[in-house]
Amino acid sequence: TSFTDLQLAEPLSRALAADGYETPTPIQQKAIPPLLAGSDLLGIAQTGTGKTAAFALPILHRLAAARRRPAGRTCRALILAPTRELALQIAESFNRYGRFLPLRVACVFGGVSERPQIQALQPGVDILVATPGRLLDLIGQRAVSLGELEVFVLDEADRMLDMGFIHDVRRIVRTLPAARQTALLSATMPADIATLARDLLREPVRIEV
Ligand code: AMP
Repeated sequence: TSFTDLQLAEPLSRALAADGYETPTPIQQKAIPPLLAGSDLLGIAQTGTGKTAAFALPILHRLAAARRRPAGRTCRALILAPTRELALQIAESFNRYGRFLPLRVACVFGGVSERPQIQALQPGVDILVATPGRLLDLIGQRAVSLGELEVFVLDEADRMLDMGFIHDVRRIVRTLPAARQTALLSATMPADIATLARDLLREPVRIEV
């Protein structure tokens, strides 16, 4: 399989080719087709496997195909990550793979001033990458609303659990529309994550790498 076989939008293929990506990694080969088809996904994968592109490319493809301007203080796709470092890496990947698409990416996390983040969300964004605590703060202040969300990704779900974020995650999920596409990624699948996956996902495709 090559990236050409995955039939991604031309601006994405162009970015991948310019970055020297030729062959999708195993998780990309398994995850990209069902995500492009609109399925939910349960992915068991470690970092370093190419899992970020496995969800970022289908999201960028989907948002670009059904292009609409996000309303003020809303986002179309949300990626939750357990740490600031991971959130920044994910946002950077979206910006890189999506650099030839007219999509807006924002990243919010705790430990820094809220004001620039509130300003970044004001016009609405296509893709929001966030850590759970700061996102809940911003939702509470009505700086962002998730009522128009189309795609939700929970990355490193097992680390979210270890770091005590699971209640925050569930509070965020309660504000999401039921009609959405959801992907949950985790390096391990303890019982609590299996339960969370059952609650969050609809008939997911399950992949393991
Ligand atoms: P990740 O597991 O998402 O953190 O990705 C690990 C690293 O592999 C990142 O530096 C990516 O830029 C790179 N990468 C991901 N997919 C591919 C691919 N198909 N070909 C070459 N490099 C890749």
